[in-house]
Amino acid sequence: MQKLNRVLLKLSGESLLGAQGHGIDGEVLSRYADEIREAKETGTEIAIVIGGGNIFRGVRGATQGMDRVQGDYMGMMATMINSLALQDALERKGVHTRLMSAIRMEQIAEPYIRRRAIRHLEKGRVVIFGAGTGNPYFTTDTAASLRAIEIEADAILKGTRVDGIYDSDPEINPDAKKFESISGDEVLKLRLSVMDLTAFTLCRDNKIPFLVFDMNERKNLARVISGEPVGSRVHW
Ligand code: UDP
Repeated sequence: MQKLNRVLLKLSGESLLGAQGHGIDGEVLSRYADEIREAKETGTEIAIVIGGGNIFRGVRGATQGMDRVQGDYMGMMATMINSLALQDALERKGVHTRLMSAIRMEQIAEPYIRRRAIRHLEKGRVVIFGAGTGNPYFTTDTAASLRAIEIEADAILKGTRVDGIYDSDPEINPDAKKFESISGDEVLKLRLSVMDLTAFTLCRDNKIPFLVFDMNERKNLARVISGEPVGSRVHW
């Protein structure tokens, strides 16, 4: 595969938990910042969407009787907390960043403006998109797909704790088979839970490639960006 020139990296909030049961593990954050810095040094433009599942998810609140929309806004705020933490970790390592929020909060983040986001990327800044899509009933996977399409990224890179897409859960089934490359149709047919259907449909309709790789393996992000066959690739 060719080197990727502009990517959208999606990190889950849960990945920031590390060994802790809650919140943000500083060691994981620092490691991710190193990975992003090294990947950035290859010259690729990097935008990031980070989830909020380590802090709050709207559906979790709803199961306890909370209004779903209220809970979803709390989830979006959670993504802002993670985004601020990641921005801090990156800046401390000398990486220039901009945080853009889908919900206006001018004192801490720029409002999301597509043209401005692209300009930041062209100037070599890492752009973090916070507050998801800004709408309840969506996920940060959908925000990642939407923003990736808007900024015309070459691919969405989903950094997870597994090294790709398997035909069954590798953490449960030791004989699970990994796909190096798989078509979107096959993902649907086999009902593989790669991302939620809204996010998936956006990727399919706009034919944007999607890669799943292990973010905890050193230098993996830089390798994916340089076009090495790391993880699994969904093609259309
Ligand atoms: N959320 C939302 N709209 C969005 C993105 C996120 O309402 O566009 C809320 C939703 O409640 C979600 C939470 O923010 O559960 C955290 O995001 P997500 O669950 O996608 O985080 P991840 O699983 O990646 O940690």
